[in-house]
Amino acid sequence: MTNQELPLADPHFHILEMQKKELNIPQRLDEAFEILDLGIDIATNEEGFDLRTSFDQRYPNLYHTVGLSHYEAAREPASQNAGLEVIKRQASSSKVVAVGEIGLDYHHNAAPPKDQKKLFAKQLELAHSLDLPVVIHNRNADEDVYEILESHDLRRRGIIHCFSSDRDTALRFYELGYLISFAGNLTFKNASALRAAAQALPPESFIVETDAPYLSPEPNRGRPNHPAQVKHTYQYLADLRGLALQDLAIQIRSNIRDLLGV
Ligand SMILES: [Zn+2]
Repeated sequence: MTNQELPLADPHFHILEMQKKELNIPQRLDEAFEILDLGIDIATNEEGFDLRTSFDQRYPNLYHTVGLSHYEAAREPASQNAGLEVIKRQASSSKVVAVGEIGLDYHHNAAPPKDQKKLFAKQLELAHSLDLPVVIHNRNADEDVYEILESHDLRRRGIIHCFSSDRDTALRFYELGYLISFAGNLTFKNASALRAAAQALPPESFIVETDAPYLSPEPNRGRPNHPAQVKHTYQYLADLRGLALQDLAIQIRSNIRDLLGV
């Protein structure tokens, strides 16, 4: 069965970053089933938006998100506000289905935590006012991300993208109403805490993504990733939970639809 027939949706990848890795975008999108492209900074949002959306006609199942990443928190407030205005404008497109990826990253620490938190909170408020869900980036910032999400009662909630923590953290985010998204690192040898999380969650609470061009799953770890490779992570998760690949794919497709409405 092909990805199109299964259906193996990939709700997280970056067209512009894939292009920088010299991947052939139309070829890669042809291989994918259903796809959500993510815009993560002012450059990709403003200058790259036309390029990202230029594929829309050919791929009716391609959708986009727009958001300012933690890197943008290092910019002057005026520049951040200009970025927020761009997001507002782009969000009026029916092809934009979420605000993201947004969040906190205490690993790269591109900006002080207090500035990251401020920009994150602003975008949660924006998503709420636009009635859109959010796609959350969280690296080494479980407690602060949780606290901020808990204090912003978003109607549409969102996705904890590339979930990389443990079982208890996964269950806490799930109880807050957020979908847990597993990327290729689930298949890595040292990911036992992540696997415990993937086994403990109820069926309606998780999805699978590539984060392409990053985080290629085994057996292609280390090479540029693309949406069709999502099948390795689906298969891994299906085996882990003792499910048929098709049943898992249908459940995840339904989880994505419930959140994003696509
Ligand atoms: Zn990403």
